[in-house]
Amino acid sequence: MRLDHSIIHAAETHWAERLRSRALEPPDRPDDASLLAAFREHADWYRDRIGAAQSLADVPPLAKADIAQIPVLAKDDLKDVRTSGTSGFQVTVRNDKREREFRRALLYRPQLFCELPNQVTQVVFVDGAWCARPGDPPKQFDYGGCHYDTWFAGAAGDPHDILRLLNAVQPDLIRGIASAIVRFIEQAPGPLHRIRPRYVGPGGEYLRHDWRTRIATAFDTQVLDRYGSTETGALAWQCPHCEHYHANADEILIEPDSNGLIATPLFISSQPLLRYRLGDLVEWEPEPTDCLIQLPTLRIREARRDDWVIDGAGNRISPLGFQFEQIPGLAAWRLHQAGDGSLTMYFDSATPGCTAAALSTSLLEAVPGRVVRVVEGVWRFTRPGKFKRVSSDFTKQDRESYSTSAR
Ligand SMILES: [Zn+2]
Repeated sequence: MRLDHSIIHAAETHWAERLRSRALEPPDRPDDASLLAAFREHADWYRDRIGAAQSLADVPPLAKADIAQIPVLAKDDLKDVRTSGTSGFQVTVRNDKREREFRRALLYRPQLFCELPNQVTQVVFVDGAWCARPGDPPKQFDYGGCHYDTWFAGAAGDPHDILRLLNAVQPDLIRGIASAIVRFIEQAPGPLHRIRPRYVGPGGEYLRHDWRTRIATAFDTQVLDRYGSTETGALAWQCPHCEHYHANADEILIEPDSNGLIATPLFISSQPLLRYRLGDLVEWEPEPTDCLIQLPTLRIREARRDDWVIDGAGNRISPLGFQFEQIPGLAAWRLHQAGDGSLTMYFDSATPGCTAAALSTSLLEAVPGRVVRVVEGVWRFTRPGKFKRVSSDFTKQDRESYSTSAR
């Protein structure tokens, strides 16, 4: 499948310049006939699915469970990425190297409109429990006329290590998992006044209003949120000029829908997604914003919004620090912390016995000092929670005790 419309087919050295210039015009898109023809050509599977449909809206949306069925082009540089399990259901996404690099180019698009030095230092909060040391060599790459030096901090990393890294690096940018940045701010063992990034770019989950305020205050800077998914790549980004969320509508067709957003990325051809339903509730803003960037703007109404859980010592644990996706066979999970602090993990797996044992061990490690129960069948947890993978009845009382112990 090849959609010439996407900038991915330009020389890689021109991606930034093309993504910058195309953001300054209202987006155009391939017509439905050529779009559907490209997907029919990819595989008989899509040919059958599209059938006689003439327009995009006539094709049934793909659900998460359909992703495993999509035929993938055989290439030797494919890489599997397991999603972190939005809504508790995990999928494997396969992209080749060029697609992975283009996803990063799209993710970094907002930085093309920020004032940044030629040499950019950044610290990115990612899944995991470790943290780079100040002397570690950074990951390096060039993009949009800037050279980026990047260090990573795990969402569940030791706050002492993270503070040491931030003080040593003095990053121009802090980016990554929103709850991990908030967790660090709340647990930081020293003052943050020396750390003055040009801006903070959280992502990966719904940015609650109180989190935004907390981050902006802690680092005394502008907070520019990003909205995307593992499956589709970067969907929208908060603009440094107008602060609305501009959608990458030239590279991903976005259809707001009352049953959840539907997305069709135009740059993915290894495992192409035609009308993939993400489930978040978004809408187009009715009026164009007064901004040099002409990409249309989205309002995000509901997206993933997990609760935090509290371990036996009173520490808050970000759900995005969990590594459950590494457990073989695990297909879906939902975690609930009851008012007494005990945890129940509901899960689905093709090999429930092994998965239950591994989940139990993993959960006890991630949230020490709690009674843990593992139950097969995500459906057994009946609380509605389209936008919650982790829920807690324990949060409120512990927030109070946490703020006492944090002084
Ligand atoms: Zn703007």
